[in-house]
Amino acid sequence: MLKLFCNADIYTMDRSNPIVENVLVENGKIVDLNVNNTAQYQKIDLKGKTLIPGFCDSHLHTVMYGSELDKIDLSAVKSIKELIEIGKKYIKNKDFKARDWIFGWGWNQENFTEDRLPTAKDLDKISTDHPIVFKRECRHVLTANTVALKEAGLYKKTINNKRIYKDQKGHPSGILCEDAQKLILDAAPQTTVKDIKNYILEASKKYLEYGLTFVQSDDLADSSISFHKTLKAYFELADSGKLPLRYNLQLRLTNEKDLRAFIANYNTGKYNDYLTLGPLKIWADGSLGARTAALRESYNNRDSDYGELLCSKEKMENLVQIACKNKMQVACHAIGDRTIEQFVEVVEAVQEKYDDNLQHRIIHSQLADYQLLKRMKAAEINTDIQPAFTASDWEIVENRIGKDRAQQSYLWKDMIDLGINTAGSSDSPIEKPDPIWGISCLVSRKDEFLKPEFGWLPNQKVTVQDALEIYTKNGAYNAFEEETLGQIKPGYKADFSILSHDPFYVKEDKLRDIEVCNTVIGGKLSK
Ligand SMILES: [Zn+2]
Repeated sequence: MLKLFCNADIYTMDRSNPIVENVLVENGKIVDLNVNNTAQYQKIDLKGKTLIPGFCDSHLHTVMYGSELDKIDLSAVKSIKELIEIGKKYIKNKDFKARDWIFGWGWNQENFTEDRLPTAKDLDKISTDHPIVFKRECRHVLTANTVALKEAGLYKKTINNKRIYKDQKGHPSGILCEDAQKLILDAAPQTTVKDIKNYILEASKKYLEYGLTFVQSDDLADSSISFHKTLKAYFELADSGKLPLRYNLQLRLTNEKDLRAFIANYNTGKYNDYLTLGPLKIWADGSLGARTAALRESYNNRDSDYGELLCSKEKMENLVQIACKNKMQVACHAIGDRTIEQFVEVVEAVQEKYDDNLQHRIIHSQLADYQLLKRMKAAEINTDIQPAFTASDWEIVENRIGKDRAQQSYLWKDMIDLGINTAGSSDSPIEKPDPIWGISCLVSRKDEFLKPEFGWLPNQKVTVQDALEIYTKNGAYNAFEEETLGQIKPGYKADFSILSHDPFYVKEDKLRDIEVCNTVIGGKLSK
């Protein structure tokens, strides 16, 4: 049956044909636009709402997001004292067995009256029976209690690893960053394929509510799960037709052995209509909030602190070379300018050997100044930004890197103007996977309290058209789906988001209030 989506403001994101009257869909694909003779078709009357191509989030972590939906949300906590109270209450109200692990996420010491990181001793006040792990908002740092340290074999150990913070006696204090977190997480009960499938399905429900029809998810290196298990979960869901929206997997294979094991056993590219694989994801530094992003000049007021590269240049070169030889795109997590520069240099060198057209990407690109952006453009590197980070970070950026460098960061508009393909993402669970919020941040550069009054670095505000493209066709482009997703055009998949209001006709500060009324995948309404 042919379906006609009509009676809506329809924006196609196709600049040669930006507005159409109606969209005709057959077998999940768009077959025609602006149809005149409408009587013969089943009509989907959208009652004056707005129809756009389905939203794409080009970098998030589905398994982590799905698994956190039933863990303790600590994001609103204002003190370590409150953190302890919430932990105690949670354990009291739930039916835990002895020794069950307790997980929480979202604390941020910036919000604490004590102005310090919580330690094992603090968490011991919640329980000395249950292992407890509370992750910081950025997920690059966690605090574990004494029982968890014992389970991981770290209690009172002398360990020489600067990612394991020490107490006055030189023993682990319970705070672990970056890859050291794995030492604790590996000691927790193993996640099964069934668990992972549930996490993906729970997350997918939320994604559809937010209007997402396509997400690019980085899940292969989370906690103690082997990447084969995570792939198995996705394949089983895809094979049984249970993936409710389209997924691309960003393959975080953290070393040469894993990368080679992937290449020997699997293929990148299309798995089926709902699942594609690739790029290789490289994790190369931490976060600005935790001062673990690698900088060219030291952090503000901390002369010897430059953050840390988590992937040496040699290692990065090796991984990128193997990827290019195997025609894999590379997406590199890079927040600090030192990390971004290193990835650009690696790509520049590799490009001399391989004429690859692989459209490598930098995920985050937060502290890339204009000169660095120009080098990215010259090396044909695209980017995946997190517009919501401007709202979360604008008050701390100056504290971390000083005024001058703050003016040269989060340069979203410059990226667009330079012609770097810029896709929008949430890095969920770091931010909620809400493209409407992302669009609001792009256009207004204001936080949830509508601060600062004129937007942070207002010269970097982008237009509504650009913001919509960032969350639709630019996301499709970064994943090589620009011929099938992200625009309303004949031959494209019939994936749409239906909005309560026309974003071109609401005030900047009201964009955030637009609601997603429905999401359409392959011509089918999700509710
Ligand atoms: Zn991420």
